[in-house]
Amino acid sequence: MAQFTGSSHLECNVCHKVHRNVAKLLGPKAPDDWMTVHPGERLEAELTPDICILPCNGQTRHFIRGHLQLPVDESDFGTFVWSVWVELDEASMAQVAHAWNDPNRAAMPPLLGLLATELPYEQSTKGLPVSVHTRDLGQVPLLMLYPGTQHSLACEQRDGIAVHRAAELAGRLGR
Ligand SMILES: [Zn+2]
Repeated sequence: MAQFTGSSHLECNVCHKVHRNVAKLLGPKAPDDWMTVHPGERLEAELTPDICILPCNGQTRHFIRGHLQLPVDESDFGTFVWSVWVELDEASMAQVAHAWNDPNRAAMPPLLGLLATELPYEQSTKGLPVSVHTRDLGQVPLLMLYPGTQHSLACEQRDGIAVHRAAELAGRLGR
């Protein structure tokens, strides 16, 4: 008999299949607008796994990568994480940069940002306001949609999702 870890061998009660090896952390390596700016602007830009500084039509835009977690109803699974980009204003980005190597940076008050990644939902996710919670050194910020946001992503963050839904989301992003 095959060996399985956790309870991943359980038949899904939605589609009656077995969901194996469902991705738990997904997202693009750059903000969506990285690809829409002029190639000349991209030459002037800075992109690391955590930060993007992007000249755009004579202005400078600031992005940071964070984790938007969706709790999954099966405890063995843990959380499903969207690794997404958030646009910050210049003052907020300066605060982030200032606190980047501060061991107490998790004590920073949350910042306001706007989602800069389109995720596979019916309604657009770009531009949704999120609060950006800086965490300890080595951890990317945690992103929280505001309570009362009328969007299925906000509902899923609040209420959690089934493993079936995690498999579906992972499949949609892969296409
Ligand atoms: Zn299923």
